[in-house]
Amino acid sequence: MNKKNILLRITAMMMAVILICSFVWMGLGLTHETSPSLPQLPQEEIQPESPAANMDSTVPNPTDETTPPPEETTEPPEETQPEPPEEDDELPVQTSEETTPTTGDSGETSEQDKDPDSPENNTDPGNGETDNNGGGTDIPTAGETDETKLQIITDLSSRTITFDQLENDTLPFYAYLINGGKKTLKVKLKNSATPQNGQYLVGDGQNYSATLQKKEINYFTLYVKDGNTTVHEVTYRIRYMAQKADENNPTIGEHPPTIETNLTEGMEHSTRNLTMTVRATDYHGKSIPYSNIDVRMDGKQVTNPTGGPLYEYQLYFPNPEVGDESHHYITITAWDTEGNSAYIGYNVIYHMIDTGDVIGTATIILDATTVGLGRLEAPFTYKIKQDEPASYAVLAMLKECGYEAVYAGTPDTGFYLKRISRGGFMDYASIPDNLWQKIQQDGLNLTGQSSGDSLGEFDYTQGSGWVYSIGGTDYAGKGLSNYYLSNGDTLYLRFTLAYGKDLGSHVDGNGNFGHLTSYCGKWIDGGYIPMHRWDGQRHTEEATCDKDGQVYELCTVCGEKNVLETIPATGEHHFEIVEQLDPADGNDGWILYRCTQCGAEKKEVIPWKGEEESEESEGSEGESNPPDVPEES
Ligand SMILES: [Zn+2]
Ligand SMILES: [Zn+2]
Repeated sequence: MNKKNILLRITAMMMAVILICSFVWMGLGLTHETSPSLPQLPQEEIQPESPAANMDSTVPNPTDETTPPPEETTEPPEETQPEPPEEDDELPVQTSEETTPTTGDSGETSEQDKDPDSPENNTDPGNGETDNNGGGTDIPTAGETDETKLQIITDLSSRTITFDQLENDTLPFYAYLINGGKKTLKVKLKNSATPQNGQYLVGDGQNYSATLQKKEINYFTLYVKDGNTTVHEVTYRIRYMAQKADENNPTIGEHPPTIETNLTEGMEHSTRNLTMTVRATDYHGKSIPYSNIDVRMDGKQVTNPTGGPLYEYQLYFPNPEVGDESHHYITITAWDTEGNSAYIGYNVIYHMIDTGDVIGTATIILDATTVGLGRLEAPFTYKIKQDEPASYAVLAMLKECGYEAVYAGTPDTGFYLKRISRGGFMDYASIPDNLWQKIQQDGLNLTGQSSGDSLGEFDYTQGSGWVYSIGGTDYAGKGLSNYYLSNGDTLYLRFTLAYGKDLGSHVDGNGNFGHLTSYCGKWIDGGYIPMHRWDGQRHTEEATCDKDGQVYELCTVCGEKNVLETIPATGEHHFEIVEQLDPADGNDGWILYRCTQCGAEKKEVIPWKGEEESEESEGSEGESNPPDVPEES
């Protein structure tokens, strides 16, 4: 958890740097004239540093594009990018099950310690008889011959044991002395289940069994005692962990995570800089952060993904040494915090194509549904060239369709599309009502439209701008100048008014990016697609006498109801007498009833029957025609 805090702090620092840079940049008057407020940079909040807060990647301004143009700042865009920190490189260490090097007992532990993770050491943790390769520990005792030397014989060793290797988490082992004379051996186990210093284990003098605590290091210390004095001690650290999925065991645990990727088995491609996407989801439906995902190409770890929870891993395919194709093996391992893990591997074939040559076609779609204009143009087909970033494709589309583009950076570095313009194209713009409602609930700063001829960042709200998605669902965490299209890709260039929330992303900015984390819907491709998250419960609102009841589920995000069933009104009032006037002096009396549930009233006449009972026919008068209320006089 410390690491998370550090990451959050790093994120915050990066935010500060970016904001300062933005401020400087804007202070130079180089930004557009209508923006009254400093742009917020939502994607920092949704970068992998805070994976939990990060249900969907949202990027009004793709990562490296949010930074001001390099020439106006002292920082090149790369330096302000909230990229996953270098700790990534350490992931294998942090998350693998390596045994920490033993300390405090130098020279005493067995040779097994040298390679604690090797399968030979893990295969037989509880069954010392078969791997007793001289499990004894020599104790240097001066003046003794080998035959008489005091030795600890044990099959303990510092290593990792996985859950599947033990029954009931119980580790049987042996430990005893030979040539001990009067000396005795005591065994102590220390872990989170034992009080402070651990507890001495009771065995039969040779054999012991101990319950290991999961997901931690269990310390076994053997003490050689001479009377009450410890003359020697040795500690073994046994890390007890969930097994991780691998080639041989592609899933581990009852609920292995699911892994989605844009790779397919046997896929052939020609994109030298291929962006591979990975999303891993645990069985609760929660996205797994990149720190629990391991991606390797030909055995070498690929680090520093962008985006999230659909992470983008940049793969680079070197030219084949022989011929014009090369075969590669790409693996993904993902694990949750409950011992479940999954592994998947893909064979990928790269067909070399030279820089600048066409490697395929991509489709570009320009979408301004959030301002009521739908898709602005017919899908544009672009011939992708080797080593050419996606920014070229976008610029080509805009040019072809008659738009003028204003951008930061260059197509090759730090590219950020700020604004597109074409005479009159915003004349009929109109933000959909249901979206406008969300924006108001969200409390975004409203900035107004900048012109009838253009659409760009900070138009209407502080959270607006052009963003892009490959495939249309997840918004990329890297800038267009760092993204390389592949054959068959569709790039959606969309305008967001709300940090991507109106495009279906989920943003948890602690209020920095509005009050709402989600708009429960997306306004794309000319329409509105609701995206409530129903709680799946059956809430009941009972029917009353005059009102229908209902069974409904609730959106856990916005509280909207989804009615599952209607319960018809009962039609039966629960009347109670609230007032009564007895008949007297020739006048009828009455009783006023009121329904305790709905408040409906009815009046019943009590006819004056008089001394002679002369007016009996009036008694049947209905409630709808109450008699005159007698005046009190
Ligand atoms: Zn909702
Ligand atoms: Zn009623």
